[in-house]
Formats: sequence, structure tokens, C-alpha cells
Amino acid sequence: MIYLKTREEIEIMRESALLVSRTLAMIAPLVRPGVTPLHLDKLAEEFIRDNGGVPAFKGYKGHGNVPNFPATLCISINEAVVHGIPTNKPLKEGDIASIDCGVKKNGFYGDHAYTFAVGQIKPEVQKLLDVTKESLYKGIEQMISGNRIGDISAAIQKHAEAHGYGIVRELIGHGLGKHLHEDPEVPNYGKPGDGPKIKEGMVLAIEPMINMGKKNVKSLPDGWTIVTQDGLPSAHFEHDVAVVDGKPEILSNYELIEQALALVNF
Ligand code: MG
Ligand code: MG
Repeated sequence: MIYLKTREEIEIMRESALLVSRTLAMIAPLVRPGVTPLHLDKLAEEFIRDNGGVPAFKGYKGHGNVPNFPATLCISINEAVVHGIPTNKPLKEGDIASIDCGVKKNGFYGDHAYTFAVGQIKPEVQKLLDVTKESLYKGIEQMISGNRIGDISAAIQKHAEAHGYGIVRELIGHGLGKHLHEDPEVPNYGKPGDGPKIKEGMVLAIEPMINMGKKNVKSLPDGWTIVTQDGLPSAHFEHDVAVVDGKPEILSNYELIEQALALVNF
């Protein structure tokens, strides 16, 4: 069941998405060698609660005998793709950290992610980050009324595979609203013209997870962290996007994050 949103609901969702953006922008200058993921997580939780939201991932139900997710942020380092549990192991120069954050505010969810460079990273790793973010925008461009979900998926796949990267199959984007994960599913691979039709009021979390090497992934024994099988790095960028007047409108905001990064890096 796909729940289409009214203009009013989309405005409420923009607030939720922007609370995630502001949270990521707040921690962005601190994502540097020596900081611990647990410290970032604590700051993020305080910031979200101070701004009238509730962390959406904390307590997210585990499957089988996997415990519920214990943190506000998913922090996935290097070969970790997504769902990394924040630890007290400091980040080091040359790492990449994919940070995914979810909030619930006014009954609606925001869910978006950014992959940060920790200090100086290798040019080939920077290229992975750049291409993954580009592939997200290529997908968003296809989120037009009358297109189909497969048009988004195929655009992401085409761009990432043109650079020889592997596209994770097991984890995908999704509808977003009063639930963190709604229909439709939004894979990062597929065929143009396939899947549900894109309609006015649809809100999606589009989130390519792109591996420098092969597409294959596995779970760590903690039951949450997904890593690449070949141990090569993986990047993750996610935006919340609504169809407004037939066209994609990005509710989340990378400029806030990148302005915060520019201030410390100039
Ligand atoms: Mg997310
Ligand atoms: Mg998501």
C-alpha cells in the first residue's frame, strides 16, 4: 500500500527531514581523526530531542534473536555498508564514515545519510563518494509523475556501473511517511519502465549503497552491521524526496552539511 501525502503532510515531512540534515550538519565538523562514533551518537541524540524529535533508529526492532538497534546513528566505517553500531573506537585519518540518521517528529519520519571523509582520503575513495552522490541525484531526476520506480533504479545503476562499482542488492530505498519504511521498495538497480508508477504526493527515501569492488555483502555477528565481502570500501548517500507539481522536491538538505564542512576545511 503506497500512502500519498498531501501538501500539508509534505511540509511536516520537510521539517523532519531538515531535522536530520541539521543533526548531520551539527556533527559534520567533528567527523575527524580521533573522535569516537559513540560521542557523535550522544551529541546527535541530544540535538534531536532538544529540537522536538525522537531518534527513529534507537530501539528499532531486531530480527530473530538480534537485539534492538542501540543507537541514534548508524555509523558505518570503510568496508561497512550500512547499519554500523557506534563504538568507542576513534576514527582515523583516511577513513570514510557513512552516517545515517532517522527522526520522528510530528508523527512523520525523516531518514537520510551522508558519507564523510575523515581527514585526507585516497583519491580513489573520494571518487567512490562523488559517484555515489551523483548516482543519487541521477535517480532523483527520474522521480517524475508518470515515470516508474524502475526509472529511478536504472538511472542509479547505470551511473554507478559506468564507473565499475558494485551495487548492493540486499538493501534498498523505500517509501517514507508515518512509518520509517513504507511501500514502494526503491532498489538501486533495475529496468526503466518497471515497478509502481510515480505519483503526485509520493515521498521516497532514495539511498544508493555503492561498493568500490563487488556487490556482495555479508552481516557481522552483531546482527546489524553489513560489510562488503571483499573488504573494499562502500559509500551511502540518502535523500528524502517528494513529488510536488509532478517533479522531485528534495526535502532533506546537503548544503547545510557541506557548508558546515567548508567552514572547518578552508
Ligand atoms: Mg537511512
Ligand atoms: Mg532509508
